[in-house]
Formats: sequence, C-alpha cells, structure tokens
Amino acid sequence: MNAFSVRIPETCASGAVTEQRVVEFDPDCEAMIFSTDGTPLQGITGGYGGDRRVEHIIPRTAVQKGTYEIVIESSCNGMFGVPWNGDTIAPPDMNRYFRLVSADIVVPNEEAWGLMLDFTTLREIADTLPGNTSLQNKALVTANEIMNVFSKNDISSVARSRKLAAEVFGESWEKKGEKIYDEGAKRAQIWGIGYCHIDTAWLWPYSVTQQKVARSWSTQVDLMERYPEHRFTCSQAQQYKWLEQLYPPLFERVKEKVMEGKFQLVGGAWVENDANMPSGEALVRQFLYGQRYFQSRFGKRCETAWLPDSFGLTGAYPQLIRLAGMKYFFTQKLSWNNVNVFPHSTFNWIGIDGSQVLCHMTPVDTYTAQATVGDVNRGLTNNKNIESNDAALLVFGNGDGGGGPLSKMLENLRRIRATSNQSRELPPVYMGSSVEDFFDSVLTDTKGGTTLPNWSGELYLEFHRGTYTSHGSIKKGNRKSEILLRDVEHVATLASLYRYHKDNYVYPKSTIDTCWEKVLLNQFHDVLPGSAIGMVYEDAEKLYAEVSKDGQALLEAAFNTLLPPSVALDAASAPKAAGEIVGYNTTFFRRRDVVAVPLGGIQQLKSQVIQVSKDGNTGYALLDCSEDGHVSRCSGLFAHCMPPSGLLPSYFISLARPLTHLQVYTNSSDHFVLRNSSVQLTISNGRITSLLDVELGRELLAKGQTGGLVIFDDRPNYWDAWDVEIHHLETPHPLEFTNVSIITDGPLRAGVRSVIKYGQSTITVTISLDAITATVKPGSRSYFLFDAEVDWHERHEFLKFELPLDIHNDFATYETQFGHVQRPTHKNTTWDMAKFEVCGHKYADLSEYGYGVAILSESKYGFSCRGNVLRISLLRAATAPDAEQDQGQHAFSWAVLPHKGSFLESDVPMAAYLFNSPVYVRLLSKDITQAPLLQTESPFYIESASNVFLETIKRGEDDQFSKPSSSMTVVLRLYEAFGGHAKAKLKIAGHVSLAGAYITNLLEDEEEPLQIQRTPGMQDSTSYLTLDFHSFEVKTVKLHIGPSATISDRSDRGILP
Ligand SMILES: [Zn+2]
Repeated sequence: MNAFSVRIPETCASGAVTEQRVVEFDPDCEAMIFSTDGTPLQGITGGYGGDRRVEHIIPRTAVQKGTYEIVIESSCNGMFGVPWNGDTIAPPDMNRYFRLVSADIVVPNEEAWGLMLDFTTLREIADTLPGNTSLQNKALVTANEIMNVFSKNDISSVARSRKLAAEVFGESWEKKGEKIYDEGAKRAQIWGIGYCHIDTAWLWPYSVTQQKVARSWSTQVDLMERYPEHRFTCSQAQQYKWLEQLYPPLFERVKEKVMEGKFQLVGGAWVENDANMPSGEALVRQFLYGQRYFQSRFGKRCETAWLPDSFGLTGAYPQLIRLAGMKYFFTQKLSWNNVNVFPHSTFNWIGIDGSQVLCHMTPVDTYTAQATVGDVNRGLTNNKNIESNDAALLVFGNGDGGGGPLSKMLENLRRIRATSNQSRELPPVYMGSSVEDFFDSVLTDTKGGTTLPNWSGELYLEFHRGTYTSHGSIKKGNRKSEILLRDVEHVATLASLYRYHKDNYVYPKSTIDTCWEKVLLNQFHDVLPGSAIGMVYEDAEKLYAEVSKDGQALLEAAFNTLLPPSVALDAASAPKAAGEIVGYNTTFFRRRDVVAVPLGGIQQLKSQVIQVSKDGNTGYALLDCSEDGHVSRCSGLFAHCMPPSGLLPSYFISLARPLTHLQVYTNSSDHFVLRNSSVQLTISNGRITSLLDVELGRELLAKGQTGGLVIFDDRPNYWDAWDVEIHHLETPHPLEFTNVSIITDGPLRAGVRSVIKYGQSTITVTISLDAITATVKPGSRSYFLFDAEVDWHERHEFLKFELPLDIHNDFATYETQFGHVQRPTHKNTTWDMAKFEVCGHKYADLSEYGYGVAILSESKYGFSCRGNVLRISLLRAATAPDAEQDQGQHAFSWAVLPHKGSFLESDVPMAAYLFNSPVYVRLLSKDITQAPLLQTESPFYIESASNVFLETIKRGEDDQFSKPSSSMTVVLRLYEAFGGHAKAKLKIAGHVSLAGAYITNLLEDEEEPLQIQRTPGMQDSTSYLTLDFHSFEVKTVKLHIGPSATISDRSDRGILP
C-alpha cells in the first residue's frame, strides 16, 4: 500500500473549470484508491484488457487547492487471479510479479474522448445491423465521413467530426444527458441494469474477494454520482457483510445508495450458491440468512432470486423462491448448454411440486454484457418468446472477477438510446429502473404471465457435469456439515426445551449461525462444484473443520443437558469405564442399527454387544429405536422384537421377523458370498457376478454382465474440473476386486475386504452385510455397505461403481432437494442423451413394476443410469484450475439396496435418510433410570403419513437467546417426499406445553394459525396439528411453547434430579 500526495502542476490547474483533472494509475494488476481516512474511493484494474479502469477523477476542490492526497493499495493479482500461462483456468503462478506501468496526472481532452465513443457506437451499429437497413447505412456513411474530416493535426476537426455523429444520434443529444431516456419510445424493450459478478472465490481466495467487493462497489457508487440513470444490482448477503465488517465507511455510502434505490439488492441468498448439491434445508438457509441480513441492514427484502452462473438449477427452486418471499427468478447459464438450445427466454418455471415463478433467461446470453449495440440488439433478436413478450434484461458490466460497468458502457448506452430515439431499427434501451420493475412490466404485458410458455422441472445444464464429483472432500464436507448442523439444532432445541441436567442451558444461536454461514459460503457456485483453485479449498476445508469442531462441542453440551453424564462412543474415543451403550436418533424414523463400538477391554461393554471382532477391540451392538423415543437401546439379536403391549402396529411386523443365516463364505481363492435370509451378493474372479433377492429367489444382475468398480478416461474438451464429456463412456476399464479376505463373519455383521492396486493408486473396499433390514418397513431388504479408502494418484481418470441390473425402465429416479427427479435411461432425443451424468443426493434408483435396486450415497452427488447400468461417480482427477485436485487420501461409502416393489412402494427414501444419519452412540456412566429422556416420548412425531418427512427442528429466529427462557418458539420443517398427497397428523407430546401453532414461510413469518386438537391424558394433553400436503410440498410450522412447558412440567413428573 502506498500513500500518494499529488501536486497538481500550474499548467493543469489553470485549465477551463469544466475540464477534469485525472490521476491515471496503472499498476498492471488490481488496486484500490482510498481517501486518507481509509474510505475506498474506487477500484483500479490495470493492464490493457477490456476491463481496464485506471483513471481517477481529482475532485474540483483539490484541483483548486493544488494538492490531493490518496492511498493506493495494489493487490498482486489480475482480474482473473494469476494463471501461470495466461490461460484463464490454468493453476495460479505463485511467483507472478506485477510492475507499475504508469502514474500520471492528465487533463483529458473530453471532446476527443467523446469522438472516440461516438465513433465506437457508429462502428457497432454498422457491424451489428443488417446491410439493408437505413440506420446501418447511415452509420457506415457517417463513420466514413468522420474518417475523412478528422485530422490528428487539427484539433478543431474533433468538433466537426462530432457534429457529423450527431446526424445519427440527433441534434444536441449530448446536452440532454440522462434525459435522453425520457424521449422516444414510451415502452422499454431492453432494460439496462448494471451488475458486477464477483465470484465469491474462484481463481482467487475469499480474502481477495473481500477486496474485490470494496473495489467494485466503490467504483459503482462513484459512477452513480456522475450518471444519474445508472442503477446497479448486487446479490450475496455475504459480500455485504464483509463490506460492513471490513470497510464500514464504504458500507455506509452503499447503504445511502440502497435507500435512494440506485444500489439494488437482489438474490435474497447468502451467496450465489451451487443449485444442484446443497440440501433442501441448506437452500432454505441460503434464503433465510440472506433475506434476514438484507432486512436487518437495509429494512428490505429481495423480490428476485438471482443465480446467473450456477451450473444447473434444481426443480425444488420455484417452491423455495416463493416461500422465501420472492416471485421472480433470473439466470442465463443454460445458454452454455453444449447439446440443445434452451427454447425460452421469459417463461413460467414450474417446480417439482407445481409451484411456479416468473423466470427470465436473458436473450443477451450473458451477465457480463459490455453494453454494446450488439448486446442491446441481441436482447431482441435472440429473444425466443417474442410472440408473448419482447422485453429483455441487459445485465451489463465486467464480471466474474468483479469490476462492473465502466463509464464507457454508460456513455455507449446513451448514444444507443439517442439513436433509437431517431430510428426504430434498434430496440429502445431503458435505464433507471430495477430488475423488479422489469419483471413487473412483463407480468403486466403478459396478463399476469398467462400468455408465457411454461417449463416444468429442473433446469438441467447440459455442461459442467463433472462438478457433481470434482473435489471429493468438499462434497463430503458439505454433506457432513449439513447433517451435523441439522442434528445440532435438533438436539440443542430439545436441550433448551427440557434442560434436564443443566438448568441454565441456553440455545447456542450465535454459534449455530456462524457455522451455517460457513457452510453456506462454501456452497458458492465455484467452491462446492470443485471448480476453484487449490488455495480456495485450503480455506474451505478449514471452515468445515471449524464447523465440525464447533458442531461437536455444541452436540456435547446439548447431550449433557439431555442425558446424565455421558461420552461419545466411537472409533476415535476408546471407553475408559463401564456404562450403558445408547444411541441418540436424530431422525424421526423408527430404526434399528448395527453399530461398531470400541470396547477398550471393558468386560461390562462386551456383555452389551452381540459380536466381537477377532482382535477383541471392536464390538458390534444392535441398537433398537423402534418405539416413539429418540434413544436407541442395545438389543439382543432376536429378542425385543415384540412390542411391549398386546398391540401389534404394522411397523413391528418386520421387527418380529428375524433375519437369519447371516453368512460369508469363500472357496478360499476367488469366490466369495455374503448372504442373509434377505439378500445375497457373490464376487467371483474379482467382479460382482450375482445379486440375489433370497426371499424371492430373484437374480437382479443382467445375465452375463458383472458389476463393480470401473475406470474411464476423462479428458474434457476444455473446462477440466467442470466437465466430463459423453465420450468418456466409450472407455470403460472394469477393475477387479483383488486380494479379497473375510474380515467379519457374523452373527451381526459379515464382511470382506479387497485391496486393489491401480496405476499409482490403492483402493481398499470393505463390503459388509448386517443381520437387519435397511428400515423397519415391512418387507424391507438389507443393503450391502461399501466402505472405500482410496489413495488416489491418477490424472484425468474417473472412478465409478456400476451395477448392470436385470431391471427395465425408461426412467431412473434420483433424490433432489425435498423430493426426487426422474431422468431418462435412454438416448431417444438429444435432450435425453445430454443427461448422461446427473446430480442426485442420497439415492439413485432403477425400478420396474414389482422390484428395484437403489444406490445410497453419503457424500457423492454424481450418478448415471444408461440402459440397465446404474452407476455412482466416485472420484475424478482434473488438473485445472487446481493442478492437484483430488490427489491423495479419500474415505467414502455407498450402499446397494434391493427392494421389493417399485420405487414409490419402496423404503428407499427412508433408508437413504437413515444411511446419512447414523445414531450418535454414547456411553452413559450412570444408571439409565436417571435419564428422564429415556422415559420421554419424542416431542414431535408424524402419524398417518409415511410419505411426510420431518426434516428440521430448530428454535425460532426471533426468540430471545441471552438467557434460559420459559417461553419460546420451535420451528419444524416437513416435506412430502414421494410425490403425492398426505393428511399428516403432527403429534406434539403432552409434556410440551403448546400455546399456539402457525404455518410460516421459510423466513418464519407467521402466515396462518393452525387449529390445535388436544387429547387429554392423565397429566398432559397430547396435541395434534393436521397438515395437508400435496406432492413435494414443504411446510414450515412454528410452535409457541407456553411458560408451563419445561421446568414445572418436569417437577410434576418427578423427574428432576
Ligand atoms: Zn460465477
């Protein structure tokens, strides 16, 4: 950083008052000019690219004074980082140096600059419009005349040349300034809005983005002073928060402009997130944290969701956008499709649940338009829905690395508008409005959108399909963090409700918020997809590590409030004393689990497990959480299968059915069989040769085909970390399970391990089968669990796991946010063919009438199903923009779940949910009779709607969290998971004192009171709320818990310690 004191020479200071004095500073890199009190004044972009911005206007007062002081901070990066060979996506060159190119005080000849801009516009008109239009001819002739008149040796020729240009722009056009937009066509066709796309991290880390935000936004605030028509829109609450924290004086200036309506908030989300992989709840939080931030700092919320650059958009979005208080959506990324041209520009986007939102995909085909005549004209000529609406958004300004509009763009637009005021051959461009004004006018012009075309379901991007897999650890960090935070909120809410063992427990709202903000930040659309440089992932991994550490600490505090003194019992923490093994179930499904626990040589623990490993260190316990509680207890293999009372609800039927004959056997060389009375898997000569439903005697693999690991050559055309191309499927190299050995052999868990050497890599896969079914649903089958540890050192190779199934369907089913999506398994049309690699969350399924097989995933998002071959994508090995991406150690799991019945009849969604949500195994040091939680039924439970999932339980955002409180709100998020109707009864246990209940939106605004039905009991009255659902509907319920809830309630029940 350098402080500059500029002495303005007499020769400069004595010019006409209207002339500007300008500092031209070109450090060849990015820089920021500050006032001496530390307020950012504007950004500098050095070099000679199209984004060059090196001039800074000296204020008039300083010119008169003769001196001017500023501070310039140079940042050692260009607009697009420091790619080592100049190619945009090449990994960074950490030895790159920048050199000061120029530092001058200049008095620009404004007439000459004006002529250059005039000539540029004329040239663009001549280049853009067809040769048979009179405007094109006129512009060409005028430009030609200017070339004849202009003489570099005769300064007076500038004025004569400009007079010629006015024959196209209209007489006195320049004097009209921004008023030029008040003349001509009354109705705007092209709506100009300034924007600077700042990738929150990409070819630079988060810390550089913080500077980019201040640079770009200070520049735009400055431009607004000089161009009153300039409107600038910016998304991403995170960037505003950084500005608020790091550059408070500039934040105040931005705030003033927001209040004036010139700096416009858009998006309503924390960042411009990836729109494929975040969970449904994470998308909710993007909006919750985004909108609440905007509301708290600016007193307003956004009305338009804004994801111009995300790599495909889930069909869950229309509903979530609506529920987040927005009605409009802007994107453009599908113009990057590499197979089909997306057929609409302005349309109603209908989500998987039937909600719709007005969507505009600008026909200008970019969010970094340069405001040229070509851009303006493309807004009309490339509009695919002219029959229903011919308006378009022109989103202009340098971007990706920030920057935003340059003054030359605003100048060009004035000239373009002046031209269209004279001639109807260019569409009129309009400035001074907002994105919402544009959408409002579209609604008006299309009878409320009814004359627009519709698009149903996801906006699948036919490009960047490798991003579901690239950078495995970031995907894992995302999934694990999402689930950890869900569990933290759940357990902390119950702890704050009950306070059984710590009366002064306070819900840790601010730490939870901090954790969520980190997870949401890492969901940025170049971070979670794996398309950023290596430095970004060092930061991202650090954030996940912090979330994990803080989340675990919050869980401990909450568990120790809910339970008597207890410790986590997992592989990382060997027990030191005896105790009772219990599991805490954070899902709302009844369940049974086989858990591996360290025994620490303690005999008393051995008595609680059913199976002990050969070395005696690990025990396998069967945990049973099959009643209305949240705590699993150890159970014998065939004991405890019957309900305690004489009643036999349907869910007990399967529990009552023991799974027998868990076996693993081998011919001691190349043939291994894992089986129980439900399913059987055979590995022969290194490949899976049979997958059998034992009960039905049905072979599930296609005859003559084998399953297992497979490697493909993976050489995309350019965007290395982003893309996997269809030609990779032409090079399958099946891998064999080699060095197979039996490692456990029942009665609870049986398993084999294989160590595979491939190239420079080692892949260790453990395949296990348990003596229980995947869920407690009647007829559920067991799944085969695949745990992989990979030391990965390949380049441009793609590791997958595949199963060729003897199952036929034209469509496979994949989980998406709050529901599922079906995609073709065939290649009938180019639209079908383009979906050769797709995103799924916790499951992918191929079913036909009567039977199906699913692959469950706990940290992978890439899948495909071509014909009968179902695949999960495991690891890629791109070399740009991160030269070392995915090199090294990985640990991940997946499971193969056969199921009787088609997907809709199956337990796949529940099984996948449980697979991702292991019980928290704890060792209680005291007798369990001292744990009131074990005698307490779940406070919230859904009855009579197995298709409705209770996803989230958290405290209300507007509660007081400074001290323990007896009145509070609890927010529950539920959704319909199968795609049908439901009338769900939400049961609220009697020990929760329910004072009121409301349906809210995602922002927790109370919208509609719910009627509470109460069933009086001995001491408490159980409450019920009836909730009607349609397909994939998301509902948020806010419960007001009355003052009688917690402490007095516990005293009455005599369970206070
Ligand atoms: Zn971007």
